[in-house]
Amino acid sequence: MEHLINPSVKDIQISGIRKIANLVSQYPDAVSLTIGQPDFPTPGHILEAAKRAIDAGKTIYTPNPGLIELRQAASAFVKSKYGLEYSPESEVIVTTGASQALDITLRTILEPGSEVLIPGPIYPGYEPLVRLCGGVPKYVDTRASGFKLTAELLAPHITDQTRCIILCYPSNPTGRVVDAQELAAIASLLAGKPIFVISDEIYSELIYDQPHVSIAAIAAMRDQTIVINGLSKSHSMTGWRIGFAFAPAYISKHMVKVHQYNVTCASSISQYAALEALTNGVDDALPMKAAYMERRDYVYGRLLEMGFELEKPEGAFYLFPSIERFKLSSMEFTMRLLDEQKVAVVPGDAFSSYGEGYIRISYAYGMEVLETAMERLERFIKKL
Ligand code: PMP
Repeated sequence: MEHLINPSVKDIQISGIRKIANLVSQYPDAVSLTIGQPDFPTPGHILEAAKRAIDAGKTIYTPNPGLIELRQAASAFVKSKYGLEYSPESEVIVTTGASQALDITLRTILEPGSEVLIPGPIYPGYEPLVRLCGGVPKYVDTRASGFKLTAELLAPHITDQTRCIILCYPSNPTGRVVDAQELAAIASLLAGKPIFVISDEIYSELIYDQPHVSIAAIAAMRDQTIVINGLSKSHSMTGWRIGFAFAPAYISKHMVKVHQYNVTCASSISQYAALEALTNGVDDALPMKAAYMERRDYVYGRLLEMGFELEKPEGAFYLFPSIERFKLSSMEFTMRLLDEQKVAVVPGDAFSSYGEGYIRISYAYGMEVLETAMERLERFIKKL
């Protein structure tokens, strides 16, 4: 009966990140730098709020778009941090992680044949969701601009079929940020055109050397932009599954229907935890960010010493060095590094074909792990 399975589902490939993670489990002494989630525990006051919610019996469905208090807190959070204005009543949806926010957004705006422009290399979570909607992903090569999407790179890819553009900054896997000046240029290219922007800002609280600027803060873009954010990275809450979609009411009112029939609402207990995070923990990311920055500086410095070519990440917790000079594919490099020195990284081709020739190193690990991994990596490349 397998031939009856929906071909768009059959065609979905297991992510390259998952493949490596599965392999690493066969190497018990391996040092893994593969993971895309914070290594810090969820702050204690958030845990306590969740326990209180359970004890108070707050275990029933919430309104479909989420608790109104949480939508108010999320709206106040993005207003004070990024100058964004969204009505808690009609323009904020609490989702099951940023992942589900992306899914309901794409399902709301795409039709079969809609083209979606995605800067590459990029997070592998977008393409399957686009394809499940019958959309056509079109990658825009950002290698020549240090992995930063520019208006100039984007312009030639826009066609009559282009329905939306996905932005992701700070970026997974490169840690690069599209700065305010370039966002303004992208805005002048897109404003008023019948093209949506999905701005995945899940790493907005983990940006190091500059303030985070949301493209939706540019007045001309607000009406055609859906901002995706969440607490997985900022509050070390990956398992709680809380994300947010911020969109003008004319889009939100349709997204909320997809959301309702998809999950009804995000977990009530997680929503109470999120409410605590966004009221008494608005700056919880700061100490973690300080630690990530120290690690970034260390690993970046070590990679430069070893002769790697790489762009300095400005946010998130990833580095994306080139391995081109070793004349191995990213998968071969990764497999040999794992076999010979027991260090696991993610091959760049997991992040679209434009990631070939690179590896992704996550520094969401303690300093000791990073030091060991760098020593082993150095030994490995000396032998190559
Ligand atoms: N977008 C990007 C760029 C990510 O890296 C991730 C998680 N790795 C997500 C979205 C999904 O996050 P969430 O846990 O909120 O679903």
